[in-house]
Amino acid sequence: MDKIKMTTPIVEMDGDEMTRLMWAMVKRELLEPFVELKTEYYDLGLPSRRDTDDAVTMEAARAVDRLGVGVKCATITPNAQRKVEYDLPRLYPSPNGTLRSALDGTIFRSPILLPGATPLVPTWTKPITVARHGYGDVYKGVELAADAGQTVRLVSGTEEKTVFAFQGPGVALAMHNTDRSIEAFARSCFACALDRGEDLWFSCKDTISQTYDARFRDIFQRVYDQEYADAFRKAGIQYLYTLIDDAVARCMRSSGGFVWALKNYDGDVMSDMIGAAFGSLALMKSVLISPTGRTVYEAAHGTVTRHWRRRQAGERTSTDPMAILFAWTGALRKRGRLDALEDLAAFAQKLEDAALDAIRAGMVTGDIAQLLGRGTVTDTDGFIAAVRDQLEQAL
Ligand code: NAP
Ligand code: MG
Repeated sequence: MDKIKMTTPIVEMDGDEMTRLMWAMVKRELLEPFVELKTEYYDLGLPSRRDTDDAVTMEAARAVDRLGVGVKCATITPNAQRKVEYDLPRLYPSPNGTLRSALDGTIFRSPILLPGATPLVPTWTKPITVARHGYGDVYKGVELAADAGQTVRLVSGTEEKTVFAFQGPGVALAMHNTDRSIEAFARSCFACALDRGEDLWFSCKDTISQTYDARFRDIFQRVYDQEYADAFRKAGIQYLYTLIDDAVARCMRSSGGFVWALKNYDGDVMSDMIGAAFGSLALMKSVLISPTGRTVYEAAHGTVTRHWRRRQAGERTSTDPMAILFAWTGALRKRGRLDALEDLAAFAQKLEDAALDAIRAGMVTGDIAQLLGRGTVTDTDGFIAAVRDQLEQAL
């Protein structure tokens, strides 16, 4: 069989620990035998970040900006213990944070739906993708504790407002956001909805927050009207603004199949709730999309350190490679669409189907067996071999 050809390279960002091991297995067993893989390789594993004093991360971000599509393995965000373990001269920032700032992007999380698994909300037959605004609000808030008799004021230029005149002890908080950041967020969200062919919801509390939240609502509406309304009409999808409480109620009664854009705190909370309802962290995908449509695909989970320690001790583990596999298929499909390589996009689909067929056939990793309440538990290598069998039958 001739291998499928690619024209533009994908930016490949390698990572750490258990996910680095699964990364190599997925490439060797499921990609390279079938595709003439073209990638521009950046090693974001912690030893390589140390050896380049983290310059490799910025190089990878620039490559994504240049080539448009990337795929990233999970990476260690160093803490004090890792500093000792890897003999680091300093604590490097999270590579995901660096990529997100460099590309001004938004993270979208969506679940992989398994055949035979019912989400905790049984009407959710399609995935729900959550977009969390990653700037400002309470995460960049300025807080203080006030005492009786003190008055907290908000001052800007010549304008001054009383927040509260305290009769007894209490607390106060001031938050900010910028039009630039909200606009970039809105563009990434519209781009994501178009890419997925799904409606976009944006929700906040503009009835109560008539300056702050209302600004988000107005910017989303303006960006939609000026830049995306035509494309949405052509794609047969809709943009919906609604109050956050209404959105929560609608979401619970929906069948899924939409992208939900949320402010920073709302997104923090709702993404964990939606993720838990769909099942397992190992089955969550994460996509970084810039306002200009640059896209990086990733698994939402980390480097699975607990399993890695067991591997180091010589044990075999049943770690789930699904989200890594789907990160690769996401990137291949996107590259296929951008370069008009139908066979590449079709291969991505067949590989995803093969993985779901392997699960249907009952050879699964431990987390999936637990989720489905059935199946024969195999180790990571065994599961990947089962996917390859299905793929070879399908090709
Ligand atoms: P984690 O790697 O996501 O793992 C947490 C637990 O979730 C695992 O111990 C395992 O539970 C389960 N799990 C996650 N992925 C799984 C998979 N593919 N298959 C089976 N089970 C899976 O989070 P962590 O242990 O908190 O973080 C480890 C390292 O990852 C840290 O150094 C952190 O900085 C980094 N991290 C990176 C990213 C990223 O690059 N995007 C994201 C998060 C964390 P059981 O042990 O119970 O089986
Ligand atoms: Mg959270």
